[in-house]
Amino acid sequence: MNYKTLFGYVTSSVRKGLVNNLSRNMSTGRFRVYITRSDMPESGLDLLKKKCDIKTWKEASTVPREEFLKSVAGVDAIYCTLSDKIDQEVLNVAGPQLKVISTISVGYDHIDLTECKKRGIKVGYTPNVLTDATAELTMALLLTTSRRLPEAQLDAKTGGWVSWAPNYMTGPGLKGATVGMVGFGRIGQAVAKRVKSFETARILYFSRSERAEANEIGAIKVEFDELLKESDFVIVCAPLVPETKEMFNKSAFEKMKRSAVFVNTSRGALVDQNALIYALENKIIWGAGLDVTTPEPLPLDSPLFKLKNCVVLPHIGSATIDTRNTMSELTAANILAALHNAKMPAELK
Ligand code: NAP
Repeated sequence: MNYKTLFGYVTSSVRKGLVNNLSRNMSTGRFRVYITRSDMPESGLDLLKKKCDIKTWKEASTVPREEFLKSVAGVDAIYCTLSDKIDQEVLNVAGPQLKVISTISVGYDHIDLTECKKRGIKVGYTPNVLTDATAELTMALLLTTSRRLPEAQLDAKTGGWVSWAPNYMTGPGLKGATVGMVGFGRIGQAVAKRVKSFETARILYFSRSERAEANEIGAIKVEFDELLKESDFVIVCAPLVPETKEMFNKSAFEKMKRSAVFVNTSRGALVDQNALIYALENKIIWGAGLDVTTPEPLPLDSPLFKLKNCVVLPHIGSATIDTRNTMSELTAANILAALHNAKMPAELK
């Protein structure tokens, strides 16, 4: 969905008479929206500015909790990121007029959805529009890790590149490999399609339900332990929910091949990070590529940064310019639709 489609969608809903003025700012007659950082993409902000009074955290950084709590009192909508915890305390402070929370992310583990539902607060998110960008980054991270690109570049820059050598900077290849996908939804499938073009031997997946799309991709559903045991590459694309929290623990890493590459672009908390560090230090698995960690940002003294067999990226899965613009437009469109009692383009139910 692009800017024009989204804007058309919202304005046509308004024209259809779905406007509800009850919770508007009394002095301006406009809705009040709080935005949790100053550097949100302009295209989404432009949509909002036409219809709402906007209050924004003044810095291009995560709003400090105390400031957040102070600022949301009396607003009709909150435009947030995955770094802003939306819990009962925030909802209480915001007040009963709060109508919608819209996060510029597809992951929503930072939002107390049950509590929002209980209070009739709508929640918007950004599925689909970031799928391709995140799948591309997952492939980039996989290859960067398996082909040791950061280590190789550092070596080339610092004089370690002495001559071509047969065993120099070698790593596992994708051709003929078995790839295990943990989570086989929008992003998992988009990754699997890309992985397949590398002429892999098998794609296995683990999720709670059978996916019809798996047939077309040629992916086979297996149990978690079988996936761990069989896969040369394990790629995590499942959401963070209570059942997936730290599913990659000591026991899981011990079930994996010693030659396995582990890639996580979902959420850091799916991994017991100490168990991963132990597995990498002791060569229980071959290497890991992480776009997500616990906490974020990862402290500079984390052992993960010292390990040659680990690549850490600063949570940039969806970071293409177009994707971030579209995400911001969808976040804004969700807010406008909810404020006008119209159907939200992407509502979490
Ligand atoms: P999605 O379409 O909802 O797919 C999620 C998949 O995980 C589904 O296959 C689902 O299948 C499976 N799943 C859910 N609960 C599970 C469980 N308890 N055990 C095993 N599998 C489970 O979501 P998506 O759009 O692909 O996004 C996936 C996640 O990627 C997001 O939640 C977000 O955290 C992360 N993400 C990260 C970035 C980044 O920048 N690194 C960017 C975008 C998204 P079943 O329901 O059948 O189990």
